Amino acid sequence: MKIRTRYAPSPTGFLHIGGARTALFNYLFAKHHNGDFILRIEDSDNLRNIANGEKSQIENLLWLGITPDEKPGSITEFGPYRQSEKLTRYQKLAENLVKKGFAYYAFDNQEELGLQRKSQIEKGIFSFRYDANWLKISEEEKEKRYKNRRFVIRFKVNKNKNYCWNDLVRGNICFEGSSISDWVIIKSDGFPTYNFAVVIDDFDMKISHIFRGEEHISNTPKQIEIYNAFQWDIPKFGHLTIITDKNGKKLSKRDKSLLQFVEDYKNQGYHSEAFFNFLALLGWTSPDSQEFFDHDSLIKAFDYKRLSKAPSYFDVEKLNWFSKSYISKMSPDEILSNLKLSNDSNWNRFFVETFQKSTIKYVDFYKNFEFFQNPKQEMEPQMIEILESLDQRPIEIFAKKIDYKNWDAKKINNLIKEIGQSLQIKGKELLLPIRLATTWANSGPELARTIWLLGKKVIEKRLLKWK
Ligand code: GLU
Repeated sequence: MKIRTRYAPSPTGFLHIGGARTALFNYLFAKHHNGDFILRIEDSDNLRNIANGEKSQIENLLWLGITPDEKPGSITEFGPYRQSEKLTRYQKLAENLVKKGFAYYAFDNQEELGLQRKSQIEKGIFSFRYDANWLKISEEEKEKRYKNRRFVIRFKVNKNKNYCWNDLVRGNICFEGSSISDWVIIKSDGFPTYNFAVVIDDFDMKISHIFRGEEHISNTPKQIEIYNAFQWDIPKFGHLTIITDKNGKKLSKRDKSLLQFVEDYKNQGYHSEAFFNFLALLGWTSPDSQEFFDHDSLIKAFDYKRLSKAPSYFDVEKLNWFSKSYISKMSPDEILSNLKLSNDSNWNRFFVETFQKSTIKYVDFYKNFEFFQNPKQEMEPQMIEILESLDQRPIEIFAKKIDYKNWDAKKINNLIKEIGQSLQIKGKELLLPIRLATTWANSGPELARTIWLLGKKVIEKRLLKWK
């Protein structure tokens, strides 16, 4: 049997970290077994769909390096890959279940359901259980409601059965049938509900394994009922644990203090492979605690048995560290081309080499680029204050001895060293006065390189008063 997995987002939002991680684990599992990974769009709740939701899902997966073998638009025996394109299939199969006695039409309107709910609450039953025998209306009225399509189709749950599965992440899980109410499979607008459509899709697409968020655990028994009713083989399920913030709380899309959409990270210029690597460690570990994996070695190493049962913490610092490590290992040419800077210019190359070891994301390159291309016209008062409090001798010697004719970073560096030796000072004592006087900042990458990048014109002007 070919391993086939899928990621099935609803296009109700952009690609979220949680969704990306679900997609990644499905992808890694499929690829580890030479299987297929499918992207399917669950757009049957079209009121909640947003413009560009589908586009964001696909584009950001591709950015991460997760390329689906099949996706909306693919012509195969398994498609279509958007639920909205197969409504009649769901309806036909639902009718089929009605005919076989597994499902039935239910004609209650909202008001009647409200009354049913209320009478249950009065009896102390707080989670609503649909009672198929509750609605007392005439056959004539039923007929009328049927004609006006004022009905839903509900699945008749066998209350005497238990629904169990061996979860790939959590082991054995069981639900009692008596805890599940007869649930809607086709809504009054003719659209299927998620729990019904998802089974048809997974069957049609021959999905063998499903990794998804733990919020779907309570949906699984309902889905198993549908597989049983059609006598279809049940895929294997694995429910992933939640992703938390630093306070141990589940990430909430409403929390604005943390960027949670993949495109936020993409737009800031995080390294995509670093993000891919980082995501994989959100709930998965390698047996020897190795952390750095490129795309292919992760596929090779991935073993679902090492998926974590405990929540995983989305640690931005760790992501930053990954991104920085990946960027520092890139070739300057690759960075120049990503920055759309010419690789013929010495200055450009020197700039990239100077900053790449300390850069987390591309916006940082841009910010630094600005610093040199549009140098400040005035020094900030705080910086002046610090500068005035420091020993001025290193600056005086530097201003006198700097060689503007042979503008060379190594020479500048040697001069700084010499000054240190002659004044018998080193470290901050030596560097900070020169740094402040030349770069007008109290921190930055290697000083001689920064001075070189600022250029002789700027430096000469800034050092005038020490000459
Ligand atoms: N559309 C569902 C979601 O976004 C998919 C659930 C599933 O994988 O079965 O959560």
